[in-house]
Amino acid sequence: MNDSGLFGALEAGGTKMVCAVGYADGTIAGSCRIDTGNPDDTVDACAEWFSKWNIDALGIGAFGPTAVDPSSPNYGSILETPKRAWSHFDLLGSLKAKLDVPMGYDTDVNAACLGEVVYGCARGLKNVVYLTIGTGVGAGVMVQGQLLHGILHPEAGHVVLARDPLDPMPVNESACPFHTNCLEGLIAGPAIAKRWKGMSASDIAGDDDAIKLLAGYLGQALVTFALCYAPQKIIIGGGVADNTPVVSYARRAFKELLNGYFKTPETCNPETYIVNNSLLGNQGIFGCFELARRALQ
Ligand code: ZN
Repeated sequence: MNDSGLFGALEAGGTKMVCAVGYADGTIAGSCRIDTGNPDDTVDACAEWFSKWNIDALGIGAFGPTAVDPSSPNYGSILETPKRAWSHFDLLGSLKAKLDVPMGYDTDVNAACLGEVVYGCARGLKNVVYLTIGTGVGAGVMVQGQLLHGILHPEAGHVVLARDPLDPMPVNESACPFHTNCLEGLIAGPAIAKRWKGMSASDIAGDDDAIKLLAGYLGQALVTFALCYAPQKIIIGGGVADNTPVVSYARRAFKELLNGYFKTPETCNPETYIVNNSLLGNQGIFGCFELARRALQ
């Protein structure tokens, strides 16, 4: 318990909603998971759970694409998404109609980036990239202490890469419906399943050639992020990163591809520059607490 108030955190994902309540000191007082079904029922279930806790503010980290600019007329809405029922659903407005507390809103990955900066392994840093590799690939980016939005928000999971000639996936195929050669289409969970006959990240974790292939693609993307965003640290979470050694292999690929260019104390030490997430997978929750704290101020 502390004086700053009780915060709610909602990590709104395409398959599940993770709800939590806690305090600014990083104590989690309670949490629950709700399957993502149709929007109205899902929001009802989340709001009902939060209403039992009497929270002072709520932070929401939503799956994208979503409108994160407060001056936009559709601020807080999910935009065009393959999850049809959620396309153009006003997530923030629906929650506000049921819970009368200040709310902060951003993408799930920007929230996770913020969580690592305020509570985790990037504490005190102002320029950070957070990447999640799971059923999709998403990136949250902080530049000069501000979460990056721009025309929408970063969609760095779809950066275009050069194909590895040894990739067994046919060159005109990938797991992304938009691109044949993007990071998500080549290394997210569905890409692993497509390339290796239904296998999961855990199934290929011990396969050196498979991990090297994924790490080569990840390394290309990490070089792009380092060169474009100039982060002080790159943090990688998500099921594919958690359940395989792809991050440690990608450090080698990063070093080879950067080839001595852009020598800073950070990039010269890939072991501390490119890291797995901290906070036991709760980086998104902690980021939502911070969004809530800021909304309350
Ligand atoms: Zn793509």
